[in-house]
Amino acid sequence: MLKLLNKPFLFQLFYMLAFAVAVCYNGNMCEEIKLNFDPSAPVAISRCEKYDVDEIAAVLETQLRSLGISPEFFAGRRVVVKPNLIMAASPDRMATTHPAVVEAALRVIGACSPASVTVAESPGGPYQPALLRASYHATGIAAAAKRAGATLNFDTSVKTVGYPDGKVSKSFELLTPAAEAEVIVNICKLKTHSLTQMTAAVKNLFGFVAGTDKVAMHARFPNPQSFSKYLVDLASAVATICPTLNIVDGIVGMEGNGPTAGAPKPFGCIITGRNPFGVDVLCEYLLRLEGQVMTTSEARARGLCRKDVSELALVCEGQVALYRPAKVVSAETKQRHILTHLPRFLRPRPVIDQALCVGCGVCAKSCPAETITMANKKAHIAHNKCILCYCCQEMCRFRAVKIRKNILLRLVR
Ligand code: SF4
Ligand code: SF4
Repeated sequence: MLKLLNKPFLFQLFYMLAFAVAVCYNGNMCEEIKLNFDPSAPVAISRCEKYDVDEIAAVLETQLRSLGISPEFFAGRRVVVKPNLIMAASPDRMATTHPAVVEAALRVIGACSPASVTVAESPGGPYQPALLRASYHATGIAAAAKRAGATLNFDTSVKTVGYPDGKVSKSFELLTPAAEAEVIVNICKLKTHSLTQMTAAVKNLFGFVAGTDKVAMHARFPNPQSFSKYLVDLASAVATICPTLNIVDGIVGMEGNGPTAGAPKPFGCIITGRNPFGVDVLCEYLLRLEGQVMTTSEARARGLCRKDVSELALVCEGQVALYRPAKVVSAETKQRHILTHLPRFLRPRPVIDQALCVGCGVCAKSCPAETITMANKKAHIAHNKCILCYCCQEMCRFRAVKIRKNILLRLVR
């Protein structure tokens, strides 16, 4: 017996036990990761009409219970929270995830004894600590994280995440905290989008691509169709990293000239679900854009989500139709789907409102086609090289980039 308990034997025993624990843990992780892709994963929608942290936290706790997500989901794990901080703008602009929603989520997660909670996002523009700091402060996320005891990410390194099943991209350079996360909580804003019609759970994950790498992806996938395929590959790659949870800030979203220059649109709800594609099926329905959002159509074609809201496993107080605004989102939003299928010369193009342009140059730095130049402290677009990605409109804090329709289309209307 004593001989058996010699040092090599104890080492072997220790490693066998460690291996068994690791296999069990990874086995559980694999099972949990599968739910990220499960089209039958439930989606919860609840009424919530104001940005009150206590009220939102109560809604989230109820939703998590009804989705079968227990505190163990977060316990002992490195949790990364990904809000939409597209630009350093005040929450009143409704372009970014409201800090009350982020704070409520951080509070709920923090109560589940996670190993750590880090807020990580790459806003539009260069991915630099000083610009990150400006975004965290302007959007109210710095104060929200401080109150909830979460950490803000300032590590600007990236890591490669492979996804061999990708249709148009099989490898992604993602923010390091995202690539190393053990749970990802994707907290998006429900908005219309000039290029992709809608930005919700799937599109929000584009913020895990660092700064100007995003510009390069717009150049690599220069039309809405190919870019949407890329976004579905990206969301799928993120979903292979670890268990994910998606939360949609639909209390007040955006319609019209989204994602940054549209009008606030109250939807009065919060949506939560494990499968980002399923969550987007519901978001598409709320915006009355069923079948028109290319990322959702692509996900549907790949079998990643249900055909429509009637097939979703909904957890909902009352009828889901009650959550859909009585008035449809603006005609501008409705037309966008048709316009993306037109020949290039007919499609709406960006124009600079010289009276509003302050010459900051952000649009020029964000243009994948390098077709914006600055002269006399004003931006100018050479339209012959423009790929119509609308990044300039997205990045202009001064609403100086307008999307103008072709004269023929204006006459038809
Ligand atoms: S159009 Fe907007 S982003 Fe571009 S330089 Fe003018 S103010 Fe800046
Ligand atoms: S001018 Fe605007 S829409 Fe055209 S390629 Fe540049 S960023 Fe995209």
